[in-house]
Amino acid sequence: MDKELLAMLVCPLCNGKLKYDRDAQELCCHYDGLAYPIQDGIPVMLPEEARQMGADEKLPTSPGRTGEA
Ligand SMILES: [Zn+2]
Repeated sequence: MDKELLAMLVCPLCNGKLKYDRDAQELCCHYDGLAYPIQDGIPVMLPEEARQMGADEKLPTSPGRTGEA
């Protein structure tokens, strides 16, 4: 996975930075609790393809969503 490419990638939902999990081959958005799969070295940035994280992996707030509710 190219580090420069990785630095450019943001979550399509919240535009937050993604964390690259090399072992799982996933790009994780801890704000949305989604893990985007990397297939053949290509990140699949589709929320419908992403894995839902467990509650313990997820952060309570999202950068673009302050003042919600
Ligand atoms: Zn996100």
